[in-house]
Amino acid sequence: MTVQSVLDEIRDLPGTGEVIPIVDPATEEQITEFTDVGPEAVDNAVAQAKKAADSGVWSGVPDYDRAKILWRVADLIDENADLLADLESVNAGIPPSQAKVITAVGSEWFRYYAGWCTKIDGIARDVNTGGLTGVESHMHAYTLREPYGVVGLIFPWNGPVFNFCAKLAPALAAGCSTVVKPAEETPLSALVLTRILAEAGVPEGVVNLVNGYGHTVGAQITAHPDVEKVAFTGSTEVGREIMHASASSNLNKVTLELGGKSPVLIFDDADLDTAIAMAGFGCFLHSGQVCMLGSRIFAQRGVYERVVEGIATMANNLLLGGPQDEGAMIGPLISEKQLKRVMGYLDQGRSDGVELVTGGHRLDRKGYFVHPTVATKVDPSTSRLFQEEIFGPVVTVLPFDDEDEAIALANDTDYGLAGTIWTSNLARAHRLAKRVKAGTVGLNCQLQFDHSMPFGGYKQSGWGYEAGKAGVDTYLQSKTVWAQM
Ligand code: NAD
Repeated sequence: MTVQSVLDEIRDLPGTGEVIPIVDPATEEQITEFTDVGPEAVDNAVAQAKKAADSGVWSGVPDYDRAKILWRVADLIDENADLLADLESVNAGIPPSQAKVITAVGSEWFRYYAGWCTKIDGIARDVNTGGLTGVESHMHAYTLREPYGVVGLIFPWNGPVFNFCAKLAPALAAGCSTVVKPAEETPLSALVLTRILAEAGVPEGVVNLVNGYGHTVGAQITAHPDVEKVAFTGSTEVGREIMHASASSNLNKVTLELGGKSPVLIFDDADLDTAIAMAGFGCFLHSGQVCMLGSRIFAQRGVYERVVEGIATMANNLLLGGPQDEGAMIGPLISEKQLKRVMGYLDQGRSDGVELVTGGHRLDRKGYFVHPTVATKVDPSTSRLFQEEIFGPVVTVLPFDDEDEAIALANDTDYGLAGTIWTSNLARAHRLAKRVKAGTVGLNCQLQFDHSMPFGGYKQSGWGYEAGKAGVDTYLQSKTVWAQM
């Protein structure tokens, strides 16, 4: 397959819904289009997945064979790494060097979860249930860990290859059958990855790809009576809709990986050069379109000016550009819609009296590029710039005096995805790690993430965990079996 053949193939896929254009965000040019599959195709995909689940065509495969197939998926992803990275660049605007890293991370998810196939265990106990009645009653009890039948996997555009792998690898390791919906902006790599799964030996009917809008295809999956579990990554707003859909349909189990507005605390005893470099990178990477970025920086008053100046300097020096622009470190926003959203927040900030130290404008060129923006003089209690997830290259920087004030500011948000503490005082670092209300905390490091460690949001950043053992557990239910001895 080539980039061109994928662009052609998706255009020819059948569908009964709206035709959806796919635009290269670095050039604003339409590169192809596809048709929303429509409601019958979603029903059909769920039916195929149910048939696969009921027949045990995948869950019944010996665990060591499932492991081999997932390992083979990883190898095939590596073999197709150039194509996948090129698709990531042309579809999501990700610089080629970063797209290659993301693709390599994707294959490692499959290797990691290949290992879990053979380690899904329950517990066993001998129990005397007669303790309360005085009548001896000897039982042997054990638990079975069983995959959900049909799971719906829905994810966003900000890292298409990564998101696909992070959902499919643990779901398949658990033995689930799936209906998969990528974001309507970025459906290209999923086409290649689905083919890779089939080539590696995942049986027909186990992975069913359906492309289309969220309010059509996505909503139908989440409300479908035969879908037992939905694993979703996306905005908190849509996460809420998914909970509603579950409540009003079959109470399907739900895992949510949602938005963030993560705090970064920089104390005056920190290694400032490193803290500033990492905090700057950690808010502007991928034009701010990464869920766990540190979009609210708080600096202790003694170093506040230096931090503002340092982050602004980084904002001015990061080279923005499309995949064709040599040396570009930061790509564009994904779409015109996202551009308007970011510019809306900046206009609102200006009218609220926020000071934009640098940035605040789109670049004077084709593509959805916004200059990395540093905002100060923000009122935390009223500013939407401070409170809401922008998902763009915009960071607020505010001063604090002491630990208590830093923690109060850090936790002054509905979100709780990640947090970072920069200090050379180890006791303080560990003390504050406990006080930051977030699912991930970095101590003198930022943007750390690995498939082997659980990842999930506190507060309105999520529900449940992905990655690590927790990541496979989320696709399993537990059955307790009692045997009269
Ligand atoms: P989004 O919520 O608009 O869309 C995400 C996916 O849900 C897309 O596939 C979309 O088509 C689908 N969808 C939309 N409406 C739906 C509905 N009613 N029912 C079912 N599916 C529906 O999010 P987005 O704008 O594509 O992505 C950005 C968001 O994702 C940000 O909030 C970001 O923080 C979040 N995100 C979170 C994580 C995490 O791990 N916590 C990772 C990446 C992105």
